[in-house]
Amino acid sequence: MKNDERRLTEAEERRKRRFEEKCDEMYREGYEKHNLFFSIIGANIYGPLLALPLNLLFLYIYYVINGCSYVNTLVIHPLLFTLFLLIAIVLHELIHGITFGIFASEGRKAIEFGVIWKALTPYCTCSSTLKKWQYVIGALMPTILLGFLPGMVAAATANLSLLIFSQILILAGGGDFLVVVRLLFHRPKMASVLYLDHPYECGLVAFVKQK
Ligand SMILES: [Zn+2]
Repeated sequence: MKNDERRLTEAEERRKRRFEEKCDEMYREGYEKHNLFFSIIGANIYGPLLALPLNLLFLYIYYVINGCSYVNTLVIHPLLFTLFLLIAIVLHELIHGITFGIFASEGRKAIEFGVIWKALTPYCTCSSTLKKWQYVIGALMPTILLGFLPGMVAAATANLSLLIFSQILILAGGGDFLVVVRLLFHRPKMASVLYLDHPYECGLVAFVKQK
């Protein structure tokens, strides 16, 4: 989301100052900054498109093992199911935070959570720079634990509710897949690269220093 399209919240202003300090620190160390941003519309289209093959893969695995059968007793009440989904959305951000916190040089202090109330979207942001593999693992971990893993358990136990749950959580990881693909295609030659969450834009920045 562009800065001039909405006013920054107090927390975002604080994170912006911290981000600018970090940028100055990196410039002094000889890094230059590359923006790896997405438009919100692009993220909403390409994110789910990237998730779709994985959705189909887990549907296929379920179908190969169970055919069209499922265990009736494990189909739960829609309200309870919705509650589990809401908890999972919060857990998704928490898992990002824990994973990034493990890798961040400042540890847990680098991690902040918030909610964009207009879009009812919780988010997690990390104010430490990370290596590419650390960023990739941190971005994928929630979908691995809340999407892929339940997808496998659903197939093994013929649990239709869990299959639907995992499908929704895989789709919800679309934005994270987009970040990972963007990271994997960012390959400056002969350079050391560190990545940092942008405090309010949709995406991240890369700090690149020629070796
Ligand atoms: Zn995520």
